[in-house]
Amino acid sequence: MNSRTQPDVNGTRHRVVIIGSGFGGLTAARQLAKADVDVTVIARTTHHLFQPLLYQVATGVISEGQIAPPLRVILREQDNVRVVLGDVESIDIDGHTVTSRLLERVTTTAYDSLIVAAGADQSYFGNDRFAEFAPGLKTIDDALELRGRILGAFEQAELSTDPAERERLLTFVVIGAGATGVEMAGQIAEMATRTLRGAFRNIDSADARVILLDAAPTVLPPYGGKLSTRATDRLARNGVDIQLGAMVVDMDYHGLVVTDADGTRRRIESQCKVWSAGVAASPLGRQLAEQSGVDLDRAGRVKVGADLTLPGHPEVFVVGDMMAVDGVPGMAQGAIQGAKYAASAIKDGLKGTSPAARKPFSYWDKGSMATIARFSAVAKIPVPGTSRHIELAGFLAWIGWLVLHLVYLVGFRNRFTTVVDWFFAFTSRSRTQLAVTEQQVFARNAIEELEERTRLDDAA
Ligand SMILES: Cc1cc2nc3c(=O)[nH]c(=O)nc-3n(C[C@H](O)[C@H](O)[C@H](O)COP(=O)(O)OP(=O)(O)OC[C@H]3O[C@@H](n4cnc5c(N)ncnc54)[C@H](O)[C@@H]3O)c2cc1C
Repeated sequence: MNSRTQPDVNGTRHRVVIIGSGFGGLTAARQLAKADVDVTVIARTTHHLFQPLLYQVATGVISEGQIAPPLRVILREQDNVRVVLGDVESIDIDGHTVTSRLLERVTTTAYDSLIVAAGADQSYFGNDRFAEFAPGLKTIDDALELRGRILGAFEQAELSTDPAERERLLTFVVIGAGATGVEMAGQIAEMATRTLRGAFRNIDSADARVILLDAAPTVLPPYGGKLSTRATDRLARNGVDIQLGAMVVDMDYHGLVVTDADGTRRRIESQCKVWSAGVAASPLGRQLAEQSGVDLDRAGRVKVGADLTLPGHPEVFVVGDMMAVDGVPGMAQGAIQGAKYAASAIKDGLKGTSPAARKPFSYWDKGSMATIARFSAVAKIPVPGTSRHIELAGFLAWIGWLVLHLVYLVGFRNRFTTVVDWFFAFTSRSRTQLAVTEQQVFARNAIEELEERTRLDDAA
């Protein structure tokens, strides 16, 4: 159990507010466990989400609970923390307050130090209407909706007697050939050729066509060279149709239009589309920029100073996917290390260290990994003190990927059940999480309709 801090009888204890319960927010809260501070974590979801395994929820390998443990339960032994459920709507950096909303309840929380770790959303590069036709993969809702769309497309194909319609239903397009796109395309292909094979009577699920497309000329661009080639070859062997240099320019319910590198414009008929092409930092970054004058980069990330704070506001830290720091990728390690740094700076401040004396944040690049298929992954690990990297592809990289992801999953029981599900998913054709509910599939439309009706009612 974590040590319990003394009750704040005078109400004078330093107040730390953390926005977000992802890698950055949770790490910061835990790092402050033994500090003489009151911590308030404000988050819009009741869970901490392990995003790297979302694609396995979307493709039925594991359940959502395994990667989304309840935040209150994780932090219940840490007496100096309270959790406030709510969507942060505004930050007042001069007034030192954060205002959040849960339905009609509005809460204003005062802080002495603020850690903003609200992450990033999917970016459709100005084509937000694409979201309706090609959900991204950022939340549990996204993953369950995608699972419903993937399995729903097979079900509709089974009932269709029109060959063109069947082909459209059995064509799955994943847009964006980064790690998430590669993982999704690989898993949809495995579902089609292994998990669902023989389960339908009118169609052969293995006839499904999985297209992975990207405007860039390579798969997994940050890995480059040999590893990108290995990933491309492996995906192609699994039946994934890789189309590079292809820019999506339009989309509707039945398909999408792409422009190839040579300028050719063509249409792909596909009902089930997945977007994994870009990210945009939380809009809270814009609020911080407007109030402090700090610059944002093209993805809306905050160009923080060397101590991860805003100019003129050494008490406001921005970490994780919201921060723009040279050489720090939008990955879990960036968020974890940034959050640790911010928590230490706050603790040092309590001991009297002035903000001017803070050592600059320095990032330790521990490398990156992506799974391609069953028993196959790529890994790029820097050799300390040099500019060289160790590059691994295949089974060894896959084992490394499994171990690393288990280490970072929160909770022993989640790790245990994930290992069991992985064992069956990888050694047999079974996947335990193929349930889909009507509400999961239609929730997005229902919520949008409700919001539209509320808007119209308010306007009347
Ligand atoms: C599908 C996918 C796969 C990935 N795979 C990998 C991988 O293999 N390896 C890797 O290192 N990284 C991976 N990443 C990236 C990694 O997950 C992120 O870099 C990391 O989660 C960033 O941490 P964060 O704390 O900044 O943001 P997040 O973890 O996104 O957390 C943001 C938090 O803020 C909350 N929030 C947002 N807005 C508000 C608001 N207005 N009010 C209240 N709360 C709010 C969110 O609900 C969430 O709790 C992946 C990401 C995705 C989406």
